[in-house]
Formats: sequence, C-alpha cells, structure tokens
Amino acid sequence: MNRYRIETNCVQGGYTPKNGEPRQIPIIQSTTFKYDTGEEMGKLFDLEANGYFYTRLQNPTNDYVASKIAVLEGGTAAMLTSSGQAANFFAMFNLAGCGDHIVASSSIYGGTFNLISVTMAKMGISVTFVSPDCTDDELDSAFRDNTKLVFGETIANPALTVLDLEQFASAAHSHGVPLIIDNTFATPVNCRPFEWGADIVTHSTTKYLDGHGCAVGGAIVDSGKFDWISHAEQFPGLCKPDESYHGITYAEKFGNAGAFITKCTAQLMRDFGSIQSPQNAFYLNLGLESLHVRMPRHCENAQAVAEFLHSHPKVSHVCFCGLPDDPYYKRAKKYLPNGSCGVVSFELKGGRAAASSFMNSLHLAAIETHVADARTCCLNPATTTHRQMNDEQLEAAGVPAGMVRMSCGLESSKDLISDISQALDKVQD
Ligand code: PLP
Repeated sequence: MNRYRIETNCVQGGYTPKNGEPRQIPIIQSTTFKYDTGEEMGKLFDLEANGYFYTRLQNPTNDYVASKIAVLEGGTAAMLTSSGQAANFFAMFNLAGCGDHIVASSSIYGGTFNLISVTMAKMGISVTFVSPDCTDDELDSAFRDNTKLVFGETIANPALTVLDLEQFASAAHSHGVPLIIDNTFATPVNCRPFEWGADIVTHSTTKYLDGHGCAVGGAIVDSGKFDWISHAEQFPGLCKPDESYHGITYAEKFGNAGAFITKCTAQLMRDFGSIQSPQNAFYLNLGLESLHVRMPRHCENAQAVAEFLHSHPKVSHVCFCGLPDDPYYKRAKKYLPNGSCGVVSFELKGGRAAASSFMNSLHLAAIETHVADARTCCLNPATTTHRQMNDEQLEAAGVPAGMVRMSCGLESSKDLISDISQALDKVQD
C-alpha cells in the first residue's frame, strides 16, 4: 500500500533513485539490452526473470512512468502505449476476440466509438451501445452470453456526460465481466474509478497527464481486483496456457495483480508494437509532476468561463457539470467532488455562422483539434471534425451546428473571459 498522498505521488511516484543515480527519470534511448549469457536472455523470453530485451515490448523509462500512473490510479500494474487509441484497443482486445461482444456507453470519444463499431467489428467483435443514462434494466438487457467487458468514459469527450460508475461496475460484475473506464478527462486527481468499482482504467496521456500538448501517448492500468480464475470459462486467454508464450497461464503465474498487463505486454505489445517512445514517456512524466497543481486551475477556469457563458444573452446552452442546472451536476458531486475538467461545451444562438465568427475573433483561445493542455483552445465540430454533416444530421448526433467546445487552459480566467466577451460582442445578433 503506497503511503503517500496523490500530490506526493505525482511528483515522486514510480521512480526512487538509489545512491548516486539520476534524480530525474533517465531516458533509456536504447532498442536493446545486453546479457552475458544466452540462458539469462532465455529466462526473460520465458517470463521466468524480470528484465528488458527489446524496446518494442518494454523499456525502463516507460515502466517508471507507468508505475507512477499505477500509483496515482491505485492500481497494481500499468503499461504505456503510443496513443490513447492504442490503450483503448489493447485494453479491450486483451479480453475480447472474434465472436465476442462488448457493452459500451454510447457517449464516448468519436475515435473510440469508431474503433469499436467499425474496426473491431471487422475483427468479429460486436457491440451494444447503451445510453450513459440508461436504467438498470436497459443496461442489463444489453449483455449477452459472449459479452467480455463493459466500456465507458468517466467524463465523455465531447458530450461531457458523467458516467454512473457504480451502476456500470455493478452491472458488469453481475455478468462476470470487468468494467474498463477511460479516465482521460477526469484524471486520477479528480476521480479514481477503481474506488467506484472499475477494474481497468485507460488514458489518452496526450491530454491532461502530459498537459503541455507535446507528446501523444496512452496508458492502461489494472486494479488487480478482477478475479480471472473465478471466471476462467469467460477468459481463456488469461486462464488457459498461452501456446505462443511457452504454455504460460497468465492468471496462475502472475495472479490477479499482474496477469492482465503481463498478457497485454507479452502478446499485444509483442505483436502490434505501439509502445510509447522513452522520450515521450519522459515528457509525460514532466507533465505528471505538476498534474495535481494544474487540474484544480483547469477546473477553476472552466467553472468561471461556464458561469460567464451561462448568463450571456448570445449563448443558448452550456454543458458543464459544475453548473447547478446541468443534468450531470448531482452525479458529478458524487464522483468528481473536487472538480471535473477544463472542457466546456456551449451553443451559440446564431448557429454555425455565429460559432465561426466567435472563434475567428478570439485572441487567446486557438482553434485546434485538441483539448486538455495548458493553452486554451476551441473547436466548432460543425465546421471541422463533423463538417461532412448537414445541420439536421448534426442535431441528431447531439452536436448542434452552433456548438463550440472550449478547453480552458491555465491562463488567467479574467483574461479568458474578457477575450470570450469581446469575441461574443462581434457575433451578429
Ligand atoms: N480517449 C479520450 C477520452 C479522448 O479524448 C481521446 C482523444 O481525444 C482518446 C481516447 C484517444 O487518444 P489519442 O489521441 O492519444 O490517441
């Protein structure tokens, strides 16, 4: 049990240098590792000894940083991936294969929605999407005999819905499968999904964990709580010998604490690559060192911006769970008592043209396909990510033409609001 608080773990978790060793996490920029005898290296291949042999699978820099993220989330094991997309794919594909089924919240990042509904479908994995606000019965009826996992996001990008983690965890467990939660927007500073029953957490570390918009990456963390052996029939990949790895049975050899991440590394990282570069892991760690200082400021700025927009006559609607009239306010008080994230979505009365004129008039908030870094940025989905859709299709997708998604950075909230105010003044009534 780690004895330090999250603030201390953000700074020092995961890496404790010994006498004379570098104070900062060293960047091990090496593809390979040298051994004196073939027998020693053979033991690594057999997973009989700990160590490194090839950076496509594992690298010490990455493992220091992954250990820090494991500590922050309260998990037992973690690994870094080259992107958040790779993290979500690996986490799901580690459990579900051809002929299997997934239950997922429909309110998730568009890239993950596409990954599940198009790319994983091509691999023979089917999905039932459920509303994040579904009843217990609706959720229950989404399961099938071949369901292998439930997937959702703590705070969804871009809809900003807040998931009822306990409801989804309890449904998953009553069907004998784990709950995987993408905790990218909340970060472990604002929510630790394992404390609410989730079994595996993923991150696009590209967002707040890095926080400076400099390194694309992902992470997978295992809580170590899911008892694979008790559900051996459901999860043969973890509970039966892996012939591609010398007949190892992961759940027996590594226990609940280590089986999931070891299998994911030994099979998926080996076969697909997608490892984060050690240099990016180093940048990620620099971001993690200040995560606990940055997150409250992102949240404060978003709260101030959301309140300003909420009272502005040219704004028709604001989505932000820190506003008392937001449908997710109550749920956020439970799961995110210290704040949610820095992202606010809002709709301008003047629709697409108003959103465009507003964004073009901003000086501080840059127009970017990104969220969650130190600099404020914004995007109008209708004219960018969703520009192929007409206004009716946008409305049906829950992304109205006048919607602006603004990711509040770490600047002064007063400066952000005066910038937003002058830009709204330029919007024609
Ligand atoms: N999960 C969430 C919630 C995201 O917002 C994103 C990207 O925006 C991803 C996953 C994918 O992450 P990446 O862009 O690092 O591949």
